[in-house]
Amino acid sequence: MITPVSTFDLCNDLKGAFGLSRDDKCISEHSYDAWPVAMKWRQQGKQPCKPEAVAKPESTEDVAVLLSECSKRGVAVTPWGLGSSVVGSPLTEKGGVVIDLSNMDRVLEINEEDLLATVQAGKRGDGIEAELNARGYTLNHSPQSLDRSTIGGWVATRATGQLSSKYGGIEDLIIAIKVVLPDGTIVETKRSPRAAIGFDTKEFFVGSEGTLGVVTEVTTRIFPLNDYLRLEAVTFDNVGQGIASMRALTRSGLKPLIVRFYDVDEARHAMKDPSFDLCVMFLGFDGVREIADAEYNTALNLCAQHGGSAIGPACVEGWMKRRYDFSAIERVLAEPGGVAETIEISDFWSSIEGTYEQLKTALSPLTDEVLCHFSHVYAQGTSLYVILIGKVEDAAAAEARIREIWDVAMRICLKRGAATSHHHGVGLARKSVVSRDQGTAMVVNRAIKSALDPNNVMNPGKLGFPA
Ligand SMILES: Cc1cc2nc3c(=O)[nH]c(=O)nc-3n(C[C@H](O)[C@H](O)[C@H](O)COP(=O)(O)OP(=O)(O)OC[C@H]3O[C@@H](n4cnc5c(N)ncnc54)[C@H](O)[C@@H]3O)c2cc1C
Repeated sequence: MITPVSTFDLCNDLKGAFGLSRDDKCISEHSYDAWPVAMKWRQQGKQPCKPEAVAKPESTEDVAVLLSECSKRGVAVTPWGLGSSVVGSPLTEKGGVVIDLSNMDRVLEINEEDLLATVQAGKRGDGIEAELNARGYTLNHSPQSLDRSTIGGWVATRATGQLSSKYGGIEDLIIAIKVVLPDGTIVETKRSPRAAIGFDTKEFFVGSEGTLGVVTEVTTRIFPLNDYLRLEAVTFDNVGQGIASMRALTRSGLKPLIVRFYDVDEARHAMKDPSFDLCVMFLGFDGVREIADAEYNTALNLCAQHGGSAIGPACVEGWMKRRYDFSAIERVLAEPGGVAETIEISDFWSSIEGTYEQLKTALSPLTDEVLCHFSHVYAQGTSLYVILIGKVEDAAAAEARIREIWDVAMRICLKRGAATSHHHGVGLARKSVVSRDQGTAMVVNRAIKSALDPNNVMNPGKLGFPA
């Protein structure tokens, strides 16, 4: 049973150890993430997801003590990276303690021979990248939130970066993790290039959104920095031609590190040209010059077969410079009546164009702009990223409109059998759809949850688990 009294007792007993604080400012900072609905709460003075205390441990052992104390008392625990979730994943609806990992922010080891780096979970993405770059390496994990998210958060949300079509999502990059279970047990999964020793234990924690334990260290693959990059933009008359080209690229086994295909409405923004009236695909190939050039030429031929016309690399070079910039959306949200949301889903090649059309048609009456791009490609299908921008009278109306957008989008995805999230995760935004999305797999998910967290203290109520 989780009660506020338990949290007060815990704070009294631990007497400020592990940076445990009940300071209002600190609690307020951990009551809102980057979910647009949370931003609207802040503008309305609402604080529905308020932890009772925030801890800032400095080591895995600290986390182990904290978790075992919380488990024993039935105090809810919510891990916190940097709160860049855009779906409310680190927001607690059950009070309790937020464990903020930001003091665990060191790169522990860079192994140049085996191409591995071991990093504490609270390390920010751009910090990891800076340390690796200085040694001639890179993570090749490049979410738009690189400078505001942690490697532990990436694992916990099953994040992807802008280069994932070649290098994969975080699940393809990690080799091992250290994780603390709710009862305080420290588990270290074995490092190997690949192994067939039963389950891949680390996989249970990828995408677990803090519901099974706290990840404290991550060992990830790293890559030597490339100095050769070949970029190109290709225009198409319609979305169908671009989708056919992306499918042809993946069927041919080409591995572009950048594939971003914008519909005509988003192309105007991507091209920085309000009069632009075509769809456009940004392509990039890296690696050994001869191979990258061959892939580039083959890709352009395939695009041409589907109606594509190459227009040169300048606009892709421009995007490379501003690819971490999110200020346009932030400016809209800063206005109380500003409506902005991003919804990312995925679907098979056979269905993605229909899903795109239905989402575009159904969401258009709800906002001024519905912008769409396809940006992570697989042999079987692709992601679809929908950006919605509009304006209503005030923050309360904006919150209501954003929730309506989610309802409409999720209903269409469930009906069509599309994945309701490609990389942002579930959080509070998709809380009501996760069980329907996962179907009978929830039987296994619930069994794992109750085995590892019998007192249900870890981020309760998330991922379709009981509150
Ligand atoms: C501008 C912007 C751009 C973005 N672009 C991308 C993108 O390109 N790709 C992408 O995938 N996402 C993107 N995101 C979403 C977000 O950055 C990711 O979900 C990121 O992985 C969250 O990391 P975080 O460290 O901020 O975690 P938080 O937001 O603090 O937490 C996210 C979830 O992970 C859990 N968690 C955090 N750390 C741990 C840990 N150590 N152990 C166990 N659980 C933990 C939390 O409890 C919560 O459930 C973007 C967000 C913003 C604001």
